[in-house]
Amino acid sequence: MKEFNGLALIHAVNDLAELLGRRTTVEEFLQDLVTTVADHLGAEVCSVYLYDVEQDLLVLRATRGLNPFLLGKVRLNRGEGLTGQAFLNNSPVLERDAAASVMNKAIPDLGEDEYPAFLGVPIRRNDLGIGVLTLQYREADSIDPRALRALRTLASHLASTLENVAALYELHEEPSRGVPSKAAPFTSGLLQGTSASRGIALGILEYLDGRVIDRTLPVQRSIEDAIELSARQLQELQHRVDQSLSDVALMIFSSHLLMLRDESFVGRMVDLTLDGSDPREAVESVVADFSRRFAEIPDPRFQEKAQDVQDLGNRIMRNLQALEDKDGDYRGHVVAVQDLFPSELVKLHLQNVEGVVFSGGGATSHVAILAQSLHLPVVGTGDPRLFSIPSGAQVVVDAEDGKVIVAPGREVLETYRRRVRPLLDRSRRSEEEQEKVPSPLTSADGTPLTLLANANLVKDARSACALGAQGIGLYRSEFPFLIRNGFPTEEEQYSVYLRVVESIPGLPVGFRTLDLGGDKLLSSQMGREDNPFLGYRGIRFLLDHQDLFRDQLRAMLRAGQGAEISIQFPMIASLDEFRAAREEVSRSVAALQDEGIPCHSAPQLGVMVELPATIEIARDLAREADFFSIGTNDLIMYMLAADRANHRVAPLYRSVHPGVLRALERLTGEVLAAGRPISVCGATAEDPAMLVFYLGIGITRFSVDAASLFRVSRILQAISLAEAGERARQMLSCSTLEELGGLVCALRERLAPEESLPRRDRSGNPGRGRGPG
Ligand code: PEP
Ligand code: MG
Repeated sequence: MKEFNGLALIHAVNDLAELLGRRTTVEEFLQDLVTTVADHLGAEVCSVYLYDVEQDLLVLRATRGLNPFLLGKVRLNRGEGLTGQAFLNNSPVLERDAAASVMNKAIPDLGEDEYPAFLGVPIRRNDLGIGVLTLQYREADSIDPRALRALRTLASHLASTLENVAALYELHEEPSRGVPSKAAPFTSGLLQGTSASRGIALGILEYLDGRVIDRTLPVQRSIEDAIELSARQLQELQHRVDQSLSDVALMIFSSHLLMLRDESFVGRMVDLTLDGSDPREAVESVVADFSRRFAEIPDPRFQEKAQDVQDLGNRIMRNLQALEDKDGDYRGHVVAVQDLFPSELVKLHLQNVEGVVFSGGGATSHVAILAQSLHLPVVGTGDPRLFSIPSGAQVVVDAEDGKVIVAPGREVLETYRRRVRPLLDRSRRSEEEQEKVPSPLTSADGTPLTLLANANLVKDARSACALGAQGIGLYRSEFPFLIRNGFPTEEEQYSVYLRVVESIPGLPVGFRTLDLGGDKLLSSQMGREDNPFLGYRGIRFLLDHQDLFRDQLRAMLRAGQGAEISIQFPMIASLDEFRAAREEVSRSVAALQDEGIPCHSAPQLGVMVELPATIEIARDLAREADFFSIGTNDLIMYMLAADRANHRVAPLYRSVHPGVLRALERLTGEVLAAGRPISVCGATAEDPAMLVFYLGIGITRFSVDAASLFRVSRILQAISLAEAGERARQMLSCSTLEELGGLVCALRERLAPEESLPRRDRSGNPGRGRGPG
């Protein structure tokens, strides 16, 4: 019997655990673990069984001494065999002659017969069973009396590591991530959720990871060929994206392509295959290793990478098995996914998906805005039954009303079909065929009005141009940053901004500097905050990061050379901040001129009014700012201290509120008295009642999403300034929400009767704080 030293064993195991996450895979770690323990405790066999919660089974994950081909295949119920007993009763089991025990379960081909002496200790963390560590000996006398204590210490020492390992196994084995296999299937009914965009989709449900391949299918080509083919497919996909979404294409696919050149990733797959591994196993183990490492880093950027790795692994595996590349098409399908990242959404859009459901409540605002820009019906739901819907079920994604209907009855389906048809017809019509904003645009009494478009992507600027917008009122510059999850260089930004300017030739473009923070986070750079909406947002962040600010301003100024551009700053809270931002512009102009780089030398500089304090200092700001742009999405949230993504207070978030209306009137009066232009770029500019109010208080300039341009122009044409003035006065005289409600309903009904009923639909949160209140 070998002498053993308990402390040495713990040290040895600690060393192994440290390696986990740095250079060993989970499988390697477990294998090293059982070998180390067996050696230290003088056992012929050491095995680890981990509990699979979803399957409610104990699974053999590593063994030294038993048949390795049965790893993952030996599965025991709780209480089954001696191992199952140790787990069930949460107490060690020691049997000197296992075969003689009534509890024993003989497992064919496992090779236990030669090792009759058995010692098993449960692994638990808090109250949760994680698995069982077992030792087996040829001779009963070989069991060192101290082995039991050593093994128990070890089991408690390793519990949290093994808990993570067990979770990873479940993650890898789950065919459709998040699909609880034991839950009763949800075959028909309604899931309530929150809309991230608008529209309705009908389709067959497919889980995003449901594309995971059948590992048992035969290999048809070499690993090298499969990798090469994967790279070619991605390049083609990137090229296709490039046509329609030039600004986001590169940022999304470049990381995939990069991984396909990475020696530690694909190189390792090739090496494993050369060493004799089955290529499918090689792909699986490298992908599992990489995605685990990424997933373990508590930063959403890396979680996204973990998804990328799995996506890539699936592609290589499909190519190995020469399966049809199904990437091209989700036509007729609705996809369900756990987390929805901007890049995933763009990919799905390119794959012609009809609609998307994701798990969780509200979408982050960038996902919501992207979904809007892509005209994709997207609903988020916190209902866990989402993942119990059998894939292949027919579903309706109703992003007009924030719900998902599974296996709708005939009548419901017909009603939805009738609603979807006009939407589809409209979206299929090319922009040239759609109704356009008339030029010139006037109110009913002939007063000239300006209708601009909000743009998030280059694609939106193109649509805006085709739909007759008089320019871009608000270009949200954060999108390339969010999609890339990092900071693009000055050159990269320049090429995107130039495309925006060129998309709408001869017309003004209003750039907004980076508005990160709140729910638009590059978390690795920005860190977590308890109250992100009251935190490091917008101009605050930029003024603190002068290099980034300068890169962005230089890119905007260069792109604006020879064009009519303006620059507005988000979340301005004081004249001091405005001055500091203006200084940065002057410095950037001077630097570009010094360097002889052509640029716009004197863009109009504006303030976004998004904070209550900004209203109070409007007169001072108006002496120095060239224009004002009211961001009601944020302004209302801050004025009423109500986050509309929080369903408890969402009904409190409303533009038609005496306090909000009076503040807007005061602001507008002061800005106009100072002779400065003022416009509204928040979603309230799409609400008929608010449009009447705005015209009534003197605002004649609006910026709305491209998809709403025509609708808004029609409403504006139907209002005369005299009537608007009268209505605004009435609204301003109301002291209660109730009184206001009556006035507003009548206006909405008159100006947009077809949409006046289900307001809730469209308050339907295109993200946090967006949508008319
Ligand atoms: C706003 O707050 O109204 C606005 C237009 O900015 P964003 O929606 O990008 O926050
Ligand atoms: Mg805002």
